[in-house]
Amino acid sequence: MNAPAKISPVTLAKLAKLGIHHRADLLLHLPLRYEDETHLAPIATVQPGETVQVQGAITHNEIAFRPRRTLVCRLEDSGGELYLRFLNFYPSQQKQLVVGKQIRAVGEVRMGYYGLEMVHPKCRVVDDNTPLQQSLTPVYPTTAGLSQPILRKLIVNALDTLPLNDTLPDALLKKLKLTSFSESIRLLHNPTPDIAASALEQRSHPAWRRIKFDELLAQQLSMRVHHRERSKRTAPRLAPPRQLTACLIKALPFALTNAQQRTFAEISRDLAQPHPMQRLLLGDVGSGKTIVAALAALQAIENGYQVALMAPTEILAEQNYLKLRDWLEPLGIAPVWLSGSLKKKDKQLAAKRIATGGTLLAIGTHALFQQHVSFHKLGLAIVDEQHRFGVQQRLALHNKGKAANADAPCKSELFEPHQLMMSATPIPRTLAMSYYADLDVSVIDELPPGRTPVITKLVSDERRDEVIDRVRAACMAGQQAYWVCPLIDESEALQLQTVLETYQLLTEIFPELHVGLVHGKLDNAEKARVMAAFKAGELQLLVATTVIEVGVDVPSASLMVIDHAERMGLAQLHQLRGRVGRGAAQSLCILLYQQPLSELARARLKIIFESNDGFAIAQHDLQLRGPGELLGARQSGVAMLRFADINTDEDLLHLARHAAEELLQEYPDAARAHLRRWMGNKHDYLYV
Ligand code: ADP
Ligand code: MG
Repeated sequence: MNAPAKISPVTLAKLAKLGIHHRADLLLHLPLRYEDETHLAPIATVQPGETVQVQGAITHNEIAFRPRRTLVCRLEDSGGELYLRFLNFYPSQQKQLVVGKQIRAVGEVRMGYYGLEMVHPKCRVVDDNTPLQQSLTPVYPTTAGLSQPILRKLIVNALDTLPLNDTLPDALLKKLKLTSFSESIRLLHNPTPDIAASALEQRSHPAWRRIKFDELLAQQLSMRVHHRERSKRTAPRLAPPRQLTACLIKALPFALTNAQQRTFAEISRDLAQPHPMQRLLLGDVGSGKTIVAALAALQAIENGYQVALMAPTEILAEQNYLKLRDWLEPLGIAPVWLSGSLKKKDKQLAAKRIATGGTLLAIGTHALFQQHVSFHKLGLAIVDEQHRFGVQQRLALHNKGKAANADAPCKSELFEPHQLMMSATPIPRTLAMSYYADLDVSVIDELPPGRTPVITKLVSDERRDEVIDRVRAACMAGQQAYWVCPLIDESEALQLQTVLETYQLLTEIFPELHVGLVHGKLDNAEKARVMAAFKAGELQLLVATTVIEVGVDVPSASLMVIDHAERMGLAQLHQLRGRVGRGAAQSLCILLYQQPLSELARARLKIIFESNDGFAIAQHDLQLRGPGELLGARQSGVAMLRFADINTDEDLLHLARHAAEELLQEYPDAARAHLRRWMGNKHDYLYV
């Protein structure tokens, strides 16, 4: 065996960016695709769209200036010619590619101005004896400053120096007809010459199947382990609701929908168990999750326990606060408000009331779970729009929960609180169920009655004037409207500038209207003031950035214009549109878009135009973007699948599910080894 390679601190930092923290992680850093440098394609035979390796002599070389400074070289072999183009090039490249040199170039061929061309091919100078590669060349996911050759070298070294023993028992491998781990992993990093690039790229090769199976198995195992652990931990038994709950339901101006009743019953049953609930309440925007949360809170409160309700933004947290205060104050329950924007003194006051048990209900932002806040007797933690919280924040919440009752006066109260997470997260139901197998999921699958679905219109920017007339007419007729400004990814400053300019423009265009402005850079008090004025009907038009995207609830607003809708993602458009159509009035959402549309933008706008159903939209989103993006670890805290695809590998998921059971029953050591290989220290993060 060779010695493990020394890795410089700079490289280590780059590797960490790729999620590679241990040498063993290198083994599972698998190629995105492969380049075939095992043979040369005669130029006369290549077709546009193909990625090929060609070899020939440079017969012409010039720097063109139109449209941009470009190095253009003509490469000829015995049967044809092809142009190589470089938009950004170094003097060294220019020197390398001089007339007469023999060049081997790898790249995608396309039809260009002069004929066939390759843009930015990989080139090197060769002679007649330069050997060809013996096998496909892997191309790895990487990050700026970490080149393919360096990464490749590290991975080859890891393959040479680390044990590649199988974590699965032979019997299981035989039964499932899976190839061995070492064989699979070696093959994927270093395919033998006989393997077609296509089988590897479509990930249908047995070696890929083994890896995907392993990944799914690790996920299933870790969920099961977690589930078991949870049932060993204790939480307060919060007996089913009695008086107060009935009072609240009676006092509501509406009747609960069947879905609300059912989901509350599921939550209520869990709360009465002596083990911590971990339940996700999924419901489309506007489906009425807040009242279900309020009922759950009341059940804890009736049992003398504290409840914390946390939301990801100030606007949202305040809305929750106002709503719950309206509902619960008549029952003699006064919630405490705690957010980062409170003055220090008020913060301390709120923290004190929480710590002494002077209040049973605390509502706020993640400030609720910061160091200096400790709960007297926390029975239930509710997290609204949970997909919006980062992993770190949820880890803090989790740990706070664990510590919450640790210093309770009586030992029998060493309890962990129940957790209710709420989300309109655009994850298709089936995906949610399999991903969140460690959580229990309740779904609100109907909207409150009396809502007329929002009408969606797609309008090209050329007809902006008509849209403006429409907004004026609607507001003059007593409606309220949002004008949502474009998302500018590249620059926050630019985004701010756009919203300020739009605000200025619209106040000039609509002298007869009261126009308000909210954006992320306003201080919280100002934000709250504007939202309150809009809610009270004092403002007719609200110019906003996407800060209003989550959860904002102003039922009287019935018109929304989304400027530059082509820049937004599906989930975001759906969330934004969900801000209207909350009252009884017919609502309209106008998606203003700028031509020309990219194919992806066109596909997104078509979907949002055709569907109002969040889950159906999520399903489309999944197809457009893939689960990796939907469930990025950063966003959701759920390990994202790197290799397997729930849509196409359902059979493997089933196999993995059964294998996980069997492994835990019969081969616990193997289960542990498998988790260690795949999860390493990430295991902790999965359950936040
Ligand atoms: P979300 O699920 O998006 O958080 P909310 O809880 O904010 O939705 O509810 C949206 C609106 O619907 C609120 O104004 C709420 O008061 C109202 N609502 C909730 N449940 C019902 C119901 N059963 N009937 C009528 N209106 C309801
Ligand atoms: Mg909500």
